[in-house]
Amino acid sequence: AALSDLLLSRIRDVADYPKPGVMFKDITPLLADPEAFSALVDALAALCRERGADKVVGLEARGFILGAPAAARAGLGFVPVRKAGKLPGATFGQTYELEYGTAEIEVLTDAFVPGDKVIVIDDVLATGGTAEAALELVRRAGGEVVGLAVLLELGFLGGRDRLAKALGDAPLDAL
Ligand code: IMP
Repeated sequence: AALSDLLLSRIRDVADYPKPGVMFKDITPLLADPEAFSALVDALAALCRERGADKVVGLEARGFILGAPAAARAGLGFVPVRKAGKLPGATFGQTYELEYGTAEIEVLTDAFVPGDKVIVIDDVLATGGTAEAALELVRRAGGEVVGLAVLLELGFLGGRDRLAKALGDAPLDAL
């Protein structure tokens, strides 16, 4: 509870961003605060270890900022899942629905050793579309999903329910 309170106190609400009617959760004050950022990275690293992960996947772009230091602190390698067209070499791609149109994310086909236990990290879970696509991508690339960890879950958007099937037995943790 103390950790959650600290983290929440460093997340800023920005009204009407990126468009009217949306209340954006801005994590930049948290990133800029050494105590809160370090506590967050420690907590994520602890989750990586608890889940028995072999590799950490971070989702572009804020998932990189949290996932990479967590991986290093847990003594694990880091794998980026990127927006389409950014990764060199052969990739698997996964398309998902946005409010208007679609988006695609990719991972390198050789990112995992078959059976690698993978924890996926992102900053915010909203509708769950991004995470759902990422979990599918990890499996297609030969990884076994052992967890999804986010800083903040926007519960009213129903992401957790949407992810039930994609998660299977893997836990979803929101710090
Ligand atoms: P979803 O696919 O609807 O769950 O949206 C999650 C993705 O959008 C994550 O990669 C987040 O980085 C980003 N996102 C959605 N809402 C917010 C927000 O309020 N603050 C920061 N990122 C957000």
